[in-house]
Amino acid sequence: MLRRLRSVVEWAPRALLAVGAMLLGGFITAIIVSGQERRWLEVLGGAAAGLLAVTIYETRRAYKLMAWLRGPLDRDAPRDAGFWGELGYRIERALREKDRATLLERGRVAQFLTAIEASPNGVLLLDAHEQIEWCNSVAADHFGLDPQRDRQQRITNLVRAPAFVAYLQSGDYREAVHINSGPGRRTVTVLVRPYGDGQKLLLSQDVTERERAEGMRRDFVANVSHEIRTPLTVLAGFVETMASLPLTEAERERVLALMSQQTDRMQALVSDLLTLAQLEGSPRPAPDRWVSLSSLFQRVSVDAIALSGGRHRITTTGGDDAEIAGSDAELQSALGNLVTNAVRYTPDKGRIEVLWHWREDGAGVIDVVDNGSGIAREHLPRLTERFYRADSSRSRETGGTGLGLSIVKHVIQRHGGEIEVESELGKGSRFRLVLPSARVRRVDRAGSASLQDVDSQVS
Ligand code: ADP
Repeated sequence: MLRRLRSVVEWAPRALLAVGAMLLGGFITAIIVSGQERRWLEVLGGAAAGLLAVTIYETRRAYKLMAWLRGPLDRDAPRDAGFWGELGYRIERALREKDRATLLERGRVAQFLTAIEASPNGVLLLDAHEQIEWCNSVAADHFGLDPQRDRQQRITNLVRAPAFVAYLQSGDYREAVHINSGPGRRTVTVLVRPYGDGQKLLLSQDVTERERAEGMRRDFVANVSHEIRTPLTVLAGFVETMASLPLTEAERERVLALMSQQTDRMQALVSDLLTLAQLEGSPRPAPDRWVSLSSLFQRVSVDAIALSGGRHRITTTGGDDAEIAGSDAELQSALGNLVTNAVRYTPDKGRIEVLWHWREDGAGVIDVVDNGSGIAREHLPRLTERFYRADSSRSRETGGTGLGLSIVKHVIQRHGGEIEVESELGKGSRFRLVLPSARVRRVDRAGSASLQDVDSQVS
């Protein structure tokens, strides 16, 4: 009912215009024409005027619609009844639907690109002429490209690594190629996957860390083999000597003592290797198992005194009010290694101090200080590497494995701390373990007045 009423209202101007024009046409014809045919001509004139008026009206509507179509189409189509009105409305609706579909599609593409952007690997698209169509920021970083500026550039003009260029041109993409590219000469693997009509998808991955770890593993195996082969060769020589030569009792004892030295060396090496493997393979020490520092200091100094045999002055200072959260065995091993090193690298009558102090930020610091041989500056950055020795002959002479400081570093890192080394050749060294505030706490020891900096000289 309402629709019908609306359509009547919409059509009314047209009808009125037509009727008005017809009446006016009939009236003018009546004035101009006279005679017998007058009545018919009046009707004809009225009809012609009505038709003309409707045609002009509809043509104006059509032009209005055309003007809208020629424009940016961002406004609504002219609202009108009849054919032009409906045509405008239908065009407008089709355009709106297309816009909505385009927007949806754009959103999907943007989402897809964001997902590729988030990929840890590089993704780069090449067109049939090997020009860059698109790349994510990881690929840009791997290849040293600018994702915007380098679009439509030929990739071989920008990435000139000969291995990459040859790989791209070979057409054989079964295996990835390794290239050194980008800032810092990182190692990147690139795999090509052809698609579409001559286009290519390039997938890149930074394998610098993996290669470094692989290199370290190879070096480690070579080092271990070398460290074991040396005492084994010596032992084999002694066994042969004992088997083939008649030895006096004194000679036999000397050879056996040397053989025992070599087996001790191998045992120490295997023991350190097992400690390292255990440290690497086990979870971090619990943060709620508290180890008493004074007990730790005491055990470590007893071992150090035994090793020194009274040749050094060994003191421990402070720490009675401190506890460390972590593994007792690991902390003893780390501190034991530092103190043992101090004894081994300090000449007789030297002084070795183990000190504890609280830092202002709440961290705890253990210093192992000696006035021994010291270490030349150039060795300091590499000291904690496995099998790195600043003084190889002294290390071997004193039964060193070259693994002590890497064990210390592992232990302290597992406790959230770090190791710092200061040393001067000929003057002595200071090995410092810094433990974060979360891993240390003060304890109230009743009866021990002013516990800080109590010099508990052990020897
Ligand atoms: P090592 O078993 O050879 O002592 P470490 O890893 O414990 O192996 O130490 C690495 C190197 O650091 C040693 O070979 C030695 O040259 C040097 N070093 C360690 N501690 C000291 C120290 N207190 N004084 C002088 N040199 C030291």
